[in-house]
Amino acid sequence: MTILEFTEQFPTESSCRADFKLQREKEGIFCKKCKSSNHYWLKGKSQWECKSCKFRTGLRSGSMMESSNLPIRTWYLAMLFMTFTKKGISAKELQRQLKHKRYDTVWSLMHRIRNAMGNRDNLYQLGDMVEFDEAYYEIATPENIKLKRGKGSQKQKNVAVMAESVPLEDLDTGKESKSCRYFKMKVLDTHKTDSIDHVVAENLKENTVVFSDRANTYLNISDYVETHVSEKSTKETTATTLKWVHIAISNAKRNLLGIYHKINQKYLQLYLDEFCYKLNRRYFWERLFDRLLLAVAKSYW
Ligand SMILES: [Zn+2]
Repeated sequence: MTILEFTEQFPTESSCRADFKLQREKEGIFCKKCKSSNHYWLKGKSQWECKSCKFRTGLRSGSMMESSNLPIRTWYLAMLFMTFTKKGISAKELQRQLKHKRYDTVWSLMHRIRNAMGNRDNLYQLGDMVEFDEAYYEIATPENIKLKRGKGSQKQKNVAVMAESVPLEDLDTGKESKSCRYFKMKVLDTHKTDSIDHVVAENLKENTVVFSDRANTYLNISDYVETHVSEKSTKETTATTLKWVHIAISNAKRNLLGIYHKINQKYLQLYLDEFCYKLNRRYFWERLFDRLLLAVAKSYW
């Protein structure tokens, strides 16, 4: 959506409220009390009433906007700016664009939207053939903490990166290449095997073929998937077997550094969620705003 289209379609708060009602109905209104999905809309009250138990659901209740006091149009504008470019936008810049008084409010608004993006991608597991590797992302640390050296450095956080990749062979030349589909990036709790096991079990389908290097912590991957193929880490493997995972890792690094410099460890997952959400929808960029609206409107109960 362009800025011009946005101002035509959503000129006022009431146009945004009417639209948000439609988005929520598209995603389905579920009664918190009896789980029924049949409701009447009470126009005067701006609430849905459950046909079976009469329980009422407010316009924002159960959605990502629940308990937010910001105008719905401010949420819409934030979603517009966040999906406007591939690069993304900092909270400081969004605050300036929205002419909002408080940085904190804009900052947490953006995190809620990232949360909706992450929830949406968490509905799906990756399958078929998946490249798996770990990336290390710089995080902010209090200056007085003495830093440990090496892999477990407190300055960096390890992240599991997974990419669905499908081998392709050019029938004319016989040359092999690979195309990529969906990506996931998950912050790991530790540098140990259990963290890897957990992330694999949670994010990959059982019938997956996983490709990785020969890290010791990857020993159990085959317990959770169909096949695990490990290769010694060399320049060659990086360029072929783990091609897409490495492209995604370096793009994410460039993207995060470009906007945020250093990230608090607590929020790293949310920034990665935004990066993957956009990356996974790169082929329908013009519909990104509409998709995101639905993700924000979805009931979490
Ligand atoms: Zn009910």
